[in-house]
Amino acid sequence: MTPLFPVAEYVFLGLFGLLIGSFLNVVVHRVPRRESIIRPSSHCPQCGHVLHSWENIPVLSWLLLRGRCHSCGSSISWRYPALELLTAIFSVVVAWQWGFRWSLIPALLFTWALLALTLIDLETQLLPDRITKPGMLLGLLINASAFLGSGLALTTPLNALLGIFLGYGSLWLLATVYLKMTGRHGMGGGDLKLLGLIGAWLGWQAVFLTLFIAAISGGLVAIVFLLGGKGRDYAIPFGPYLALGGWLMLLWPGDIVHAYLHFLGA
Ligand SMILES: [Zn+2]
Repeated sequence: MTPLFPVAEYVFLGLFGLLIGSFLNVVVHRVPRRESIIRPSSHCPQCGHVLHSWENIPVLSWLLLRGRCHSCGSSISWRYPALELLTAIFSVVVAWQWGFRWSLIPALLFTWALLALTLIDLETQLLPDRITKPGMLLGLLINASAFLGSGLALTTPLNALLGIFLGYGSLWLLATVYLKMTGRHGMGGGDLKLLGLIGAWLGWQAVFLTLFIAAISGGLVAIVFLLGGKGRDYAIPFGPYLALGGWLMLLWPGDIVHAYLHFLGA
């Protein structure tokens, strides 16, 4: 996969990212509702109008239709084209940081899964097992493919296995201690599985700093919410911060370790 024309590859990946973003819209909308992500084909949630292919082009159709259903005129959220654009941008960033090699494929899959989980968690305060459990298994399998010399692995199979245990286990411990101390549930089971998933893809070494980034960024946002007058019991989902931590650890692990050691004064 030697890049002869890197610009063309980035453009291709960007366009491909738009299509994936379009698919993620379907996932984010349907998975929490326990609907199939394959059938029925894309339709207007208001009138059931089945989209023609020209109405289903990422970003472009939304612009052409001026954000309205062609059939009933009800408005289509700006979040659909926004997720398509975001997915394209994130995909290009990953390729730019990662380079065009085989392990770019799992790096992109990991990124898209985190993106979908983040949006679902923000919308529903849930991280569906339908994504986290197979996600964990897929991460382990991809890293286990190192045994076949596949070039896809992001870490060693042993690191991935330990990553699941450390990711799931460390949050389980935190949640248990928190429950004993406060009598309240601080974290959902989905958070445990998400950190297990991140461990499965990136290895146990990434788990601690993912958690650290999540705690710092989540804490900062919680402070902003408190200052903004939101109640103490306002449940802020933790999944998006774990996802952020996992994504940063995918792309810049060395820099983050360095920054962390600097933070400790080492
Ligand atoms: Zn409609």
